[in-house]
Amino acid sequence: MNRAVFLDRDGVLIEDADLLTQTEQLRILPGVPAALSALKFAGFRLVVVTNQPVVARGMITEQGVEAVHAELARRIMAQGGPAIDRFYYCPHHPDATLPQYRVACECRKPRPGMFLQAIAQLKLDGRASFTVGDRLTDIIAGTQVGSRTVLVETGKHTELPITTSDPIDLTIKPEHTCRDLSAGAAWILGIQ
Ligand SMILES: [Mg+2]
Ligand SMILES: [Zn+2]
Repeated sequence: MNRAVFLDRDGVLIEDADLLTQTEQLRILPGVPAALSALKFAGFRLVVVTNQPVVARGMITEQGVEAVHAELARRIMAQGGPAIDRFYYCPHHPDATLPQYRVACECRKPRPGMFLQAIAQLKLDGRASFTVGDRLTDIIAGTQVGSRTVLVETGKHTELPITTSDPIDLTIKPEHTCRDLSAGAAWILGIQ
């Protein structure tokens, strides 16, 4: 069984650009490549799990999201970071503009569908894994697969939960809260 760090994308790896549709909008947050290297070196798979309702709104295609992820992976490595093991994204939204994406799917966080897919495909032990996010919905999804959770303050940690058809359990808290992914990685590695 492998262990992983489930990483939210916007507000954790890159600046949250609100509706990122172009690779020109990619801004990797300070310290991210080095933090990812430290986690990878310690044996963690690096799994990105991101809600991308911009697809449901018709602002970017699924192919476009995949191109953004390929470019993000390339830039992380160009800055000395490691390869990302897998990117998962949810293209759906309950109020989607495009009807084919207007579903109450299992993958949109706070639901754990992307995490469960990763666990099956990469043979991960959820309980030996960690989730790093900037929103409570990341933490709720990560908690549902038994992972330990870290909230970082580089994104939308002060905003209200996202729109979701699921009730948001405000009693769920991250196990640890810290400044950014560098501090989160240090905490994760310090407690192994
Ligand atoms: Mg985020
Ligand atoms: Zn979905």
